[in-house]
Amino acid sequence: MTQVVLASHNAHKLEELRRILAPLVPGIELIGYDGPEPVENGVTFEQNALLKARAAAEHTGLPAIADDSGISVDVLGGCPGIFSARWGGPARNDQANVDLLLWQLSDLVDEHRGAAFMCAAALALPSLPAPVEGNEGTESHEVAVLEAWRGSVLRAPAGEGGFGYDPIFLPEGETRSAAQLTAEEKDAVSHRRRAFTALSTELLRRLP
Ligand code: IMP
Repeated sequence: MTQVVLASHNAHKLEELRRILAPLVPGIELIGYDGPEPVENGVTFEQNALLKARAAAEHTGLPAIADDSGISVDVLGGCPGIFSARWGGPARNDQANVDLLLWQLSDLVDEHRGAAFMCAAALALPSLPAPVEGNEGTESHEVAVLEAWRGSVLRAPAGEGGFGYDPIFLPEGETRSAAQLTAEEKDAVSHRRRAFTALSTELLRRLP
């Protein structure tokens, strides 16, 4: 078994990603991380996921994976985007985030409420020699992929499940909000599922 660190202090995320990755990359043991977390000062989901993965790989000496996610609203040019967790203020309050977004979109008709949950998944490998200029055979020791789960923003929250923006996100082709799906239904199609499915190809290719 190859040990891989998940660069997150969130135990629920560890369980979710174990469920997603176990059938896709059977040879890995995903372990938790309680080391230092970097300042997330990237300007894209991919950059922030890479910052987290890189910090955990350096700290532990093990391959590390990380994610960064949020909701991107078409008419807002992709915002809240990387600012999703603190859209309603620095307190990172889900209710404040949802209330502000609903108010901002309050005048918009259904066809202009398109949005997507976005997730970047990153892999960083520790202590490989830096790529040498001119050596085409040297592969980068980190990679990030970005995936989307399309839908639209509802006019009012619906459902008690999930977290964050789930109650106001209507996935494409669904009649229920993301907060009305079971955890299994959401896990099967979510942005995180899509991003880590894409990253699993990189894990299979790059891990010993
Ligand atoms: P993080 O990448 O886990 O820090 O998530 C950033 C923010 O994006 C969260 O605080 C949520 O507001 C939002 N978000 C990310 N994924 C989801 C999801 O699956 N459902 C609802 N909100 C989400």
